[in-house]
Amino acid sequence: MKATNAAVMKEKNKKLVLDLIRERNLSRAELSQQTGLTKPALSTIVDELLKENIVLEVPQITNEVGRRPKKLYLNREYLYFAGVNITRNHFEAGIINFYGEVLVQKREKMKESLTANEVIEQVCSMIAREISELSIPKKKLFAIGVTTPGPVDRNNTTVLAAPNFNQWHFVNIGAQIKHHFHVPVYLENVSNAWAVCEKYFGTAKEVPNFMVVKIDEGIGSGIILGGSLYEGLNELGHTTINYNGILCECGNRGCLETYASIRSILKNTPYQTWTEAVDAEDTVLIEKEAEYLVPALVNVSNLFSLDIIVLASDIAYKSEQLLSILNARVREKSLNQKVSIVKTKITSSIQSAAVIALDKFFHL
Ligand SMILES: [Zn+2]
Repeated sequence: MKATNAAVMKEKNKKLVLDLIRERNLSRAELSQQTGLTKPALSTIVDELLKENIVLEVPQITNEVGRRPKKLYLNREYLYFAGVNITRNHFEAGIINFYGEVLVQKREKMKESLTANEVIEQVCSMIAREISELSIPKKKLFAIGVTTPGPVDRNNTTVLAAPNFNQWHFVNIGAQIKHHFHVPVYLENVSNAWAVCEKYFGTAKEVPNFMVVKIDEGIGSGIILGGSLYEGLNELGHTTINYNGILCECGNRGCLETYASIRSILKNTPYQTWTEAVDAEDTVLIEKEAEYLVPALVNVSNLFSLDIIVLASDIAYKSEQLLSILNARVREKSLNQKVSIVKTKITSSIQSAAVIALDKFFHL
C-alpha cells in the first residue's frame, strides 16, 4: 500500500467536483455538502476550475429579492471527444462535447472490398472533416473512443478474434488512429461501452449493478458492478441455453446467439428486420424470443446481484410486450427478486463510443 500523494489527492477531489457539476449543476454550498469537502477547500477547487475555464458560475433567475444563488455548469466547449463505431455492416464516426451531447455523427456502409486499413483511413477523414465543420480547435480534442464487436485488447488497442469479423482480427486500430490525431485512443467492446454510456446518460445513472444486453446481428453484453465496468470477457451470446443444441461458430452447442440474435430469430420468417416483425404485431415470434432469453437472463441475475438488465439495439424497438413477458418470467424463475428488465435510453452508438474517451477525463 502506498501513501496518497497530496497532489494526487487534490486532482482526485477536483475530478469528483467536476463529475458532480457534470451530473447535477450544483452550487458551491451543495457541492461542499455532497463531497464532504470544507467550504474553503471546495472554493479553492472551484476557483481553479473557473480560472481554467472548465466550468462557469451562473446566477439563477428567481423572482425573489436578494442574493441570487449561483450554480456551476461545465463549459460545453472546453473539450471534445470523438467516437468511432465499427460493426460488421457499417462504420461511423462523430463528436460529442464536454457534456456528452452528440454534435455530429456520420455513417458509411461497410463494403466487402474495403480492407481494415482503408476503413480506418476513411474513419480518420470523417473525424477530420467533422472537426473542421464544427470549427473545433485541434488542441480541444481530448481523446477518441473506438468500439468494435467481440473481445478487444484494451492495452494494445487491438481488435481480437470476433466471429464474422475476420479482416479486423489483430488489427491495432488505436495505433493507426493515434498516428493521425496525436491524442489518446481507447478501444472497448461495443456492449461494454454501451454499459458505460448507460451509466452516464441512460437508464442506469444511479444503479450500481446492471447488465446491458445488446441484441442485433449478434448478442453482446456489458456489466457494471459496484459502479465500475467489469472488464472480463462477458459473452452472454455464447452461453448455452441448450447443451444439445445447434453447433455455434465458437465451438459450443446451443449458444443463446444461435437462437435469439435477430439474424437467428428471423430465419424462416417473412421479415427482414425485427422492426418489421414488431410492427406486424407477430406475438408468436415475440413470445419465442422471450422463451429463448428467459433462461439466459435468469442465469445472469442468479450469478450477479443485478438491479436491472437493459435491452439495447434492434431488440429495444417498441419492446413493451417483450419486456412485460421477460419481467414476469425472469422474476418467477430467478432467486434475484429485485431485478427488472428495461429498455435502453441511449440512441447513439457514437455517444457510447465517445463516452469511453470522456470517462478517461472524468475518472482518473
Ligand atoms: Zn457460441
